Amino acid sequence: MSSFRKRALDEFSSHKAERFFMEERPISQFFGQKVFDMEKMRRYLSNEAFQAVQLAVTEGVKIERRVADQIASGMKTWAVENGATHYTHWFHPMTDATAEKHEAFVDPVKTGGMFENFKGEALVQQEPDASSFPNGGLRNTFEARGYTAWDPSSPAFIMDQTLCIPTVFVAYTGESLDQKTPHLKSLHALDKAALEIVRMFDKDTRRVNAMLGVEQEYFLVDEALYRARPDLMLCNRTVVGHTAAKDQQLEDHYFGAIPSRVMAFMKDFETEAYKLGVTLKTRHNEVAPNQFECAPVYSEANLAVDHNLMLMILMRKIAKKHKLKVVFHEKPFAGVNGSGKHCNWSMVTDKGVNLLSPGKTPKNNLLFLAFFTSVIKAVYEHHHLLMAGISNLNNSYRLGGNEAPPAVMSVFLGSTLTSVLDSLENFDKDTDIPVLSELDIIGKIPSIRPDNTDRNRTSPFAFTGNRFEFRAVGSSSNVASAMFILNAAVTEQLVEFKSIVDELIKDGYKKEDAFMHVIRKFIADSKKIRFEGNGYSAEWQKEAHSRGLKGVNNVPVAYRAFVDKKSVKLFSKTGILNEREVEARFEVLNETYVKKLQIEARVLGDLATNHIIPTAIKFQNSLIDNVLGLKELFGEEEYRALTSEQIEIIKKVSGYIQKLREDVRGIKDARKRINSIEDVAEKAVAYAENIYPYMEKLRISADKLEMLVDDELWPLPKYRELLFLR
Ligand code: ADP
Ligand code: MG
Repeated sequence: MSSFRKRALDEFSSHKAERFFMEERPISQFFGQKVFDMEKMRRYLSNEAFQAVQLAVTEGVKIERRVADQIASGMKTWAVENGATHYTHWFHPMTDATAEKHEAFVDPVKTGGMFENFKGEALVQQEPDASSFPNGGLRNTFEARGYTAWDPSSPAFIMDQTLCIPTVFVAYTGESLDQKTPHLKSLHALDKAALEIVRMFDKDTRRVNAMLGVEQEYFLVDEALYRARPDLMLCNRTVVGHTAAKDQQLEDHYFGAIPSRVMAFMKDFETEAYKLGVTLKTRHNEVAPNQFECAPVYSEANLAVDHNLMLMILMRKIAKKHKLKVVFHEKPFAGVNGSGKHCNWSMVTDKGVNLLSPGKTPKNNLLFLAFFTSVIKAVYEHHHLLMAGISNLNNSYRLGGNEAPPAVMSVFLGSTLTSVLDSLENFDKDTDIPVLSELDIIGKIPSIRPDNTDRNRTSPFAFTGNRFEFRAVGSSSNVASAMFILNAAVTEQLVEFKSIVDELIKDGYKKEDAFMHVIRKFIADSKKIRFEGNGYSAEWQKEAHSRGLKGVNNVPVAYRAFVDKKSVKLFSKTGILNEREVEARFEVLNETYVKKLQIEARVLGDLATNHIIPTAIKFQNSLIDNVLGLKELFGEEEYRALTSEQIEIIKKVSGYIQKLREDVRGIKDARKRINSIEDVAEKAVAYAENIYPYMEKLRISADKLEMLVDDELWPLPKYRELLFLR
């Protein structure tokens, strides 16, 4: 066997399940150990400092420098006591990754030696000279340097003996250079808009929080096999590889027993996650072989995003100990399901009222219906932008396939709520919206008990009893980049809802009547986005098209949704992004698309030229030797009869080699041509239209060769080897 692959397989066989690391203590005893949470702040901070942080978290009140010094000092004491030697501002640039720049806590003493020091200034603000993060032209001038600023709503934590301080990353001019800033702004805008409505019913409500529960899907691959695949190493996905004879057809992996090696890994990373305050709750096998999922209990959205990113870092780190690689890529293997991050999203008041939970009493349902229909209308109005928000090269490999998510947005409600909305819409259809007495109106609102089992797995946006589940987000992405769009769109509708209600009340409507009026209007206006059937079916594609819903066929074309007038207006009026920031993001998205596809095309070219073609030639030579040998042994007639099949194979192999060579050259030429396009958005479209399909075409020849060539010679670990951990 090719020594490359053989060595990897031998190493793989030697990898045993590590011992279980789960601490043999109740989780509650070590939960949050490494987080500077409220409880620790109370212990380590002065009363004044503690209250300042609390106000910052609950009311967004700014922390004074003097108080910041006190906080920094308390934080440092705790961190040093817990083994930290360094601190870092921890931020989320526009790359889906996280970034950090460590500084030691120590400063030199004049008389020699060093002492532990940490000033408020260093806590509140840092200036990482992070000039090479993508910024879409926002930082071209010298003045526009980037700095990070503390986000007190997410607590600091210790990872690898380093105190990590969650921060936003912005330019000096104030423009956001990261994913956290627009997300925080969107949460603020949503809070404000939602409060206005809630307060019409309950004056004491002070805050509405978006809540988020992120289900994380991922693949695990043995480290030795991973290293023997240049494509996995460099692209996090396989760009070639024939499907295994058996993968997910028998559906025997989903919810099956977790392999012991994987279980050891899970327990290990879960323990560390608990220490970091991540409220993990579920773990199970997913549909594809070697695919798994974990999910924490939902929490406030900003924290949920940070926790998800912390979790990803931890998983990558801990996997090393287990000689595993975590693959977060959306589609690492062709032919089996890809991975996503299901974002369970709701809005909950500071009093614990879930605004998306249908109440038992009709009165609560009025509020529920207001929020419920506003979300549906928001998704309708900005369905294409929402899809653009989850689109990237990785996710495009699963979009529109026979798996989640479909390439066009729709909302699934379940039969109970569908009939509620239908009946609300249809009553008294012929007359103008009647001004009825409160009782009459409320009599039309049934108590709603949606059936929790009423589920539709094929919908990208499904109502699941007391929350919506946005299922189209990719498994490797920072979900903030999709969630801020949702928050923005919902904010816009809530504002509109309130303004129409206010008008109606001014015109003499009762509050309840005004609400019903707008609820019915929103139901009618957003009807086209509702779909209860199979989101993967071809009929739905047609139907969606006829309803005027825009899907994603080509990612960079979809990105244009970001810069169209409607979206720019949405972001600016909600105060989330100004026009320049939107344009910068648009540029970064396109640039990233181009770069990633460029890398993939290069890796594919290398694999074809330097691994696959030489192997195929070797195999072909052995066939030729064989045929020539037979010719020497037998007479002409017998020889012909004996070698016809081999000669067919030689021809086939030659054909594929030829095709591969042509396609490698073709892709290279196409890239050269496209790279000369100046405009990055145009370039991205050209890449999507030319390089993307070319790669799929090239892959076919490579995969055919994998099926023809002697298994002993094949240099790359095969799917059947990569996909089955024991
Ligand atoms: P599924 O059956 O969809 O796979 P999981 O249990 O894997 O469900 O994940 C559901 C996620 O939804 C969890 O993170 C859970 O905490 C979260 N969740 C539950 N209720 C809400 C809610 N009201 N708002 C937001 N997230 C929620
Ligand atoms: Mg789940």
